[in-house]
Order: sequence, then structure tokens, then C-alpha cells
Amino acid sequence: IDFSYAAAPESAAIGRVRDRYLPYIDGEFVEGKGADLETVNPGTGELLSVVSTVAEEDLDVAVRAARTAFDGPWSRLTGAQRGAYLFRIARGIAERSRELAVVECLDNGKPIKETRDFDVPTAAQHFFSHAGWADKLEHLGLGPSPRPLGVAGQVIPWNFPLLMAAWKIAPALAAGNTVVIKPAETTPLSILVLAEIIADADLPPGVVNIVPGAGDVGAALVDHPGLDKVAFTGSTAVGRQIQRRLAGTGRKFTLELGGKGANIVFADAAQDQAVEGVVNGIFFNQGQVCCAGSRLLVQEPVAEEFLARLKSRVETLRVGDPMDKNTDVGAINSAAQLDRITALLEAGDAEGAERWTSSCPLPDRGWYLAPTIFEQASPSMRVAREEIFGPVLSVMTFRTPEEALAKANNTPYGLSAGVWTEKGSRAMAMAAGLRAGVVWDNTFNRFDPTAAFGGYRESGFGREGGPAGMRAYLHDDDEPVLARPAST
Ligand code: NAD
Repeated sequence: IDFSYAAAPESAAIGRVRDRYLPYIDGEFVEGKGADLETVNPGTGELLSVVSTVAEEDLDVAVRAARTAFDGPWSRLTGAQRGAYLFRIARGIAERSRELAVVECLDNGKPIKETRDFDVPTAAQHFFSHAGWADKLEHLGLGPSPRPLGVAGQVIPWNFPLLMAAWKIAPALAAGNTVVIKPAETTPLSILVLAEIIADADLPPGVVNIVPGAGDVGAALVDHPGLDKVAFTGSTAVGRQIQRRLAGTGRKFTLELGGKGANIVFADAAQDQAVEGVVNGIFFNQGQVCCAGSRLLVQEPVAEEFLARLKSRVETLRVGDPMDKNTDVGAINSAAQLDRITALLEAGDAEGAERWTSSCPLPDRGWYLAPTIFEQASPSMRVAREEIFGPVLSVMTFRTPEEALAKANNTPYGLSAGVWTEKGSRAMAMAAGLRAGVVWDNTFNRFDPTAAFGGYRESGFGREGGPAGMRAYLHDDDEPVLARPAST
């Protein structure tokens, strides 16, 4: 199956954003009892649509529906039958990929080039890949017939709205669970289009429930006593709160949190390729990426030359209207996020980091920030330590591999890192020493549904993708032992 944008039928609806979207509960689109939420196009600052949100009583209905579906129709299916539903969802995403690409671009502010070529096809691939797991659970090393956990409560962020929904829903369903999932308040639209795809795939009612709302709804969902598992992707601050609240409940949970990834460029690396990787590492999705390569560590002999090449490459990036197919860097997702980034830029100035900004003109409405590089950051500066979650790169230098490792690991986070070198043994040695859940070698921001993704330390715990991601939705014990009298 070709999941690319180009493969979508020409006749497919393109970019219809409706005036109003509804929660999806127990197989129906229903008005929620919460206040309406206005979602804004970050590219223009204009109102995009209105979304009905849920209140606690709606959550009760959703969790009950998920339980009924889990106890009833969903658990009676074979793995192959569950897989067939996931295949249908994958196909539905591919068929509506043009519409999804536009909706995601307008609601999030990321360039259409990215939603078209990355977010939407990667989400489809995630369902496609996990469809294949549904009838092969016995190969996960959890016994001959691993058992699902039950009802999963899932909370996702705004930076990859559709893709994060796919990362949460696909493994949960493949393993035989049912879900109640809450999108982020600034990006609820693409997952509600996904709800239509799920409805069209004829999943039994209650298997997937989508409950839009703000952080209070997320907190109420996470606290709901009817859940067997909580999966959260978002900030480290909220992840910590959730960990505290779930302590002592006996409920399984996984946390995918923030990061401050290091991109490490050795003198022997293919320099042009490394420049491209560093650009992709920090300017993809405006740097609003948990695994962004937001720290550049470059080896001293090539540092000056590398930085010059990097800056001239960054000068060519076009910042602007996310819907323009030529745009490389789109809009920041919200005014609040732009404020957070700006505050950290000012902190960098105050601490004496040398700030360089691309000269690309910015649109006069919407929320934009020109690609920015702090050329001389020292490890103690806030811009070198804190997750900025914007198109801002902090540069440091190193002499030896040992120093590179020490600097890269000098962070409370541990999600991603990149190593650029022509020497395979050095890449392997660095990967072994880096305290990061994902290490890329001569590439960056590559995602594959068959590979585990997740963090160390304050980047969270648990893995998504591949066998490890499947195990997170299954009981980790073997089959229950049936005690019976010994035969005589
Ligand atoms: P956030 O923590 O503010 O919000 C994430 C989600 O949690 C939203 O849906 C929000 O409504 C909800 N929420 C807010 N308060 C809550 C509470 N008290 N209880 C339960 N839910 C609550 O994060 P964000 O600003 O939306 O996303 C950016 C963060 O997400 C960054 O730190 C980024 O690194 C991280 N992230 C991590 C990964 C990963 O896989 N590790 C992926 C994407 C984003």
C-alpha cells in the first residue's frame, strides 16, 4: 500500500475544515457537556473551528463504553480480526490523506510539506505495521497468549497531533485493549477526522473514544478509577504530576516527556550531510519536537567552518505560510508557546550567549519565529539546559569523544542524540555511552513503527513502537497457572 500523499485519490475531499467538531464516544459523535473550545490557525491567528469538549460525566460514559467494549465484542475477536480493523484504519488514513494533511497544517501551523510527506503517511504506516502484530502476540516473549490490560486512558500533546494519536491507539488496539484518548487543546481537529475514519471502519462502539478538552480533562481522565493503563505524552512538568497522582494506584503507566537532544558532529563526518542533519534536527516542525537535536556539539577543528556552512544553509530556509508548499519553517503552535520561546531567548541574551538570527522575513500576522542559533553557549546556560521547544539551536564545542559524551550526557533528559562520523567503531562507542533512548547515526529524526522510541531519566519511561511498545499494552506475566491435583 502506498501511503503517500500522491497516492491519495484526486477526488478525495481536500482541506474541508468544518465549523464544529464533536467528541466521539461509544461509537457516536455527541455534544460534550464541557465548554466549547475555539481552535485557531497559528499561521494567521484567525479562528479555525469550534470543538465541543467533554466534562467529567462524559468521561464516565466514555470509560464505561470502553469497558463494555473490552468485556464484550472486542475481546471475542481473534487477533487476525482485530488486525483487519487496523488495516482498515490505515487504508482510511491513506484515502483521506489530502484532507488530513490540510487539517493538520491549519490546526497545528506545521508546513504542509511536512504534514503531507511525514505526519499523515507515518500515521498510516503506524496502523499498518501494528495491524501485523495483532495475530502474532505469542512472539512477544510473554507466553503463548498474552493478555491485554483492559481500558487505556491516553493523553497526547499538540506537536504531532495525528501521529501521536496513531502511536497511542494502534498498539493498544492491536494488543486487544480499548481506549479513551484526549487530544491537546490547541490541536483537536485531525484526531476528530481520524474518529470518522474509525467510525467508517466499523469498529465496535466504545473501542476508541475521543474526548477533547484542556488539561483539566486530561487530569480527570488520568485519575479515572475505571482505567487499567495510562499513557501520557507531554511535558516533563505534567508527567511528574501524573506520576505522583498514580503512585499507589497499582495502575500501569508510561510517560513520554521532554528532551534536549545532542547532535554530535566529529571532524571526520561528511560535513554537508551533517549540516543537513543538524538543520533537520532543530528546524523540523519549528523545533517543537521532543527529540529535537537542540544542542549542537561540534568538534573544535571544524567548528568555525561548520557553523559558517550551517548559517548559510539556514539562511535559505523559507519561513512563512504553512499552507505554501515551499515553506520550510511554519508557524509556532500558539501565542503561549511563542511567549515561552521568547522568554528563553531573552534568558540566553542575559546570560551572554551570542544570538544569531536568520534574516528571512516573517509574515505580519500569525505566530512566527526566525530560525535562531546561540553560537557560544556554555553548558550551564539555560538555553543549553532547558527544553526550548522552538527553532532555536545552542552550539557548544568539544575536543575528544570523551568530552563530547560528558557534555551530551550533562542533561536531566535522555531522549535522543545524533552522532555524525565516518568511523563506524566511533559511532558504536558513542551510542553505548550516550544516555539517550534513541541514538541516530549519520541521520536524525528518523521514525519507524518497528523501532522502540522512548526516554531515560526526565524524558520518561516506557517505549512506543516495535515489540517493546506492544508489551506496554499487555500483562507482563505469563499465563495464569491453573492449580490442580497432581495426577496419580
Ligand atoms: P503538556 O504537558 O502541557 O500537555 C500535554 C497534554 O497533557 C495535553 O493534552 C494537555 O491538555 C494535557 N494536560 C495538561 N495538564 C494536564 C494534567 N495536569 N493532567 C493530565 N493531562 C494534562 O505538553 P505540551 O505543551 O502539549 O507538549 C509539549 C511537551 O510534550 C514537550 O515537553 C515535549 O517534549 C513533549 N513531547 C514528548 C514526546 C515524547 O515522545 N517523549 C512527544 C511529543 C511531545
